[in-house]
Amino acid sequence: MTAQTAEQRDRTAVIGLEVHVQLETATKIFCGCSTDADPDEDPNTRTCPVCLGLPGALPVLNEGAVEAAVRIGKALGSEIPEETRFHRKNYYYPDLPKNFQITQYDAPICDGGELAFSVDGERRTVGIERAHLEEDPGSISHAGGSIDTAEYTLVDYNRAGTPLMEIVTEPDFRSAAEARAFLAKLTEVLEYLGVFDVTRDGSLRVDANLSIVERAADADADAEIDEAALGSANRTEIKNISSHKGAEQALAYEETRQRNAIERGREVEQETRHWDESRGITVSMRSKEAEKDYRYFREGDLPPLRVADWTERIEIPELPDARRERFGEEYGLDDEAAAKLTSTKQVADFYERLAGSFDPETAATWVADNLLGELNYRDLEIADVEGRLGEFARLVALVDDDEITVKNAEEVVLRRMLDDGLDPDEIIEREDLGKTDDDAVAAAVGDAIEENQEAVEDYHAGEDGALNFLVGQVMQKTGGSADPGTVNELLRKRLEG
Ligand code: ADP
Ligand code: MG
Ligand code: ZN
Repeated sequence: MTAQTAEQRDRTAVIGLEVHVQLETATKIFCGCSTDADPDEDPNTRTCPVCLGLPGALPVLNEGAVEAAVRIGKALGSEIPEETRFHRKNYYYPDLPKNFQITQYDAPICDGGELAFSVDGERRTVGIERAHLEEDPGSISHAGGSIDTAEYTLVDYNRAGTPLMEIVTEPDFRSAAEARAFLAKLTEVLEYLGVFDVTRDGSLRVDANLSIVERAADADADAEIDEAALGSANRTEIKNISSHKGAEQALAYEETRQRNAIERGREVEQETRHWDESRGITVSMRSKEAEKDYRYFREGDLPPLRVADWTERIEIPELPDARRERFGEEYGLDDEAAAKLTSTKQVADFYERLAGSFDPETAATWVADNLLGELNYRDLEIADVEGRLGEFARLVALVDDDEITVKNAEEVVLRRMLDDGLDPDEIIEREDLGKTDDDAVAAAVGDAIEENQEAVEDYHAGEDGALNFLVGQVMQKTGGSADPGTVNELLRKRLEG
């Protein structure tokens, strides 16, 4: 082993995340303005005196945001205190009309907790330090793109006051891949809770902290680093990350950058860096601000909030991992099918409603393989067809009852249901897909017997192939749509009777 690789192994990346998620509420956190951002809306149209910070305007806390926060706390196993408080975080920047942000400080709504996830087939659990409610600032655009070269800057307060939950993890990650896997799991859980919409633009923003820390001299693989090394390591905080993949890339870049600096004997500056997605690099923004820079003090316009009763009242749904496991046990699904069918709460709910009326494995094949595949191909979601569960059940029943062939059901009926919005019976009628009806089969049996007297005699003489020959004749007459077993039976009856 070379000296360099030995050295590499003696240090590890240490990562902690601060994840801002937009809570799904109809209105902003302290006023009645809508949170429904229309892509074509004009700037500064979804505003009022409160979210514009006009003198004398007073905040009123949105119950929906508190409820969402309590759900998150329960899902993460946080301690939710009896009472929670709001603080002002002061800084002067044009995206902040009041010159302070209402946030939480010493009594956040969620204290502690953890989240488990898998990465490369291994189970990891990361601690949650805290999670608190706060308001989003407005958004800023520098004409010309860059703050250094812009001639002027535009401010839009439509986003100001959007409810956010900031979820802060312990510095428990050891690689960029772990951070990404955590974000995927967190997103999944938040969507199950119904408090978050990942498809909303800018609904997830991550600040990622990374340092390179020396492993303790006597470290085995698990114990690895001591607290003193952790505390004294200079770390950088990377801002402006808006996707799981971006977080992984930014952290991988930053890990390499810091390792290189250390190997060359340079010190890593404690600073805030910006993730430049288009260039795939992090760039220095400013030296890291300290807590005292923000002059936190109590928000006098919002009284302390008693959340104890909320905590008792609010219930959360079964979470993805638990549901996955139950699907395996209750419906006998393999891991892959269970994972697919619990990928979102909507998919899982849809499947369970169907599994109630059919054999669970049949239902699983239909939802996991056929429906999700066809939806994905059309860039649709289960939510787009939720209202058509009845039609979908009808389709499965038609196949189950042998009314149409599996091939026709999959390749014609399902696809036309999605493309043309027709119901299965309509499609079957229009496309003439129904298996030949009983009368037609009976008629074909009669014809086959009449036209093939020689075969009939052979049959009565006990010749083995005769019946098969007649079955083939009937199948031909019905264009292959009759059921061979039924034909066989009908022929026997007629020949014997
Ligand atoms: P600050 O007050 O600077 O925001 P916090 O204690 O709130 O610091 O931690 C912010 C984030 O930094 C947390 O996610 C935490 O896990 C992470 N963090 C703390 N120490 C380290 C470290 N040595 N390396 C990487 N991340 C760290
Ligand atoms: Mg912080
Ligand atoms: Zn408002």
